[in-house]
Amino acid sequence: MVPTAYVVIYTEEKRRIFVVFSQVYGDFVLTKECKNIGCKCMGCVLGQATIHTCEEEIPVLDLESQKELEDNMVVIPFTEEGEMFLKGLKIERYRRYRGRLNRAMLEDVCQTPDAVLLIKAEDDGTYTHSYASLSLDQRVIARGCIAKNCPCIGCRIQDMHYIEASGKLVKMIDQNKGGVNSSGEIVLPIFQGEAILSKLLGRDPSIRHDYKPYPFGSPIEEMFFELAFLDLHIFPQYQAGRYRLDFAIPNKRIAIELDGHEYHKTKYQRTHDAQRDRWLFGEGWNVLRFTGSEIYKDLNGCIDEICKLAKVERLSAQSAIPL
Ligand SMILES: [Zn+2]
Ligand SMILES: [Zn+2]
Repeated sequence: MVPTAYVVIYTEEKRRIFVVFSQVYGDFVLTKECKNIGCKCMGCVLGQATIHTCEEEIPVLDLESQKELEDNMVVIPFTEEGEMFLKGLKIERYRRYRGRLNRAMLEDVCQTPDAVLLIKAEDDGTYTHSYASLSLDQRVIARGCIAKNCPCIGCRIQDMHYIEASGKLVKMIDQNKGGVNSSGEIVLPIFQGEAILSKLLGRDPSIRHDYKPYPFGSPIEEMFFELAFLDLHIFPQYQAGRYRLDFAIPNKRIAIELDGHEYHKTKYQRTHDAQRDRWLFGEGWNVLRFTGSEIYKDLNGCIDEICKLAKVERLSAQSAIPL
């Protein structure tokens, strides 16, 4: 919900100036003569005013969303109900505001994100990502992030784009709007695509990616990746020596091979596979093989097994949405 009215309060040495910016009633100077907080001027009245509804009393101004615009200048959005206050004013008595501020600027300052991605630096040099949104309580979504060329879900979200109604492609996260909270975590706000991200992190199977270029060797690899990437730091089609692995977790030296049609393989292919497995073993790789029917029957179980073998906590399984 974007507020449709704001008040800007400018504090000088001897007085305060209140300017109201309203979509419905225009921009006007409410008072230039506030002597101090509680002086009973129109500005002070506004700050104290409440609206009675059948159930409760709601303040006109959303004081919690107050933001500093510059030194001595703050902006406070009206609450949704608070706009009723303006209806009661004789607007024509007030002078139109013709200064350098405008509503779009105030909107930009007061905009609150629908979701946030939090990045915490750990003592061992890795990062932990957490996510919180309107529809998903805050929770850890990735541990052991290495930040550079990292395939963890937190890093992937930072690379994701969202298609606006106009067809324009925008980044889900605008790094420039990030900040640091009191616990020293980097806070990246998400203004668009909250519903999609929350569904994705909630393992909603209706969320599908559009890969460009297509990074998989087969549709079954894509199906596997769609779920596995939420927990495992995996790279598809990973090059190890002269071999290409279906998937790899390089820092754990784990190769994941999905054998689509094992029985169709020729003798030559089987020999090749055996040589390849021996080479990988020599290089310290552990090769985990899954058959196509294992993946189709119980993809979730296969990923559980990989997480256990790789000693990775399955963070996405904390989701309330069952697969
Ligand atoms: Zn006053
Ligand atoms: Zn990462």
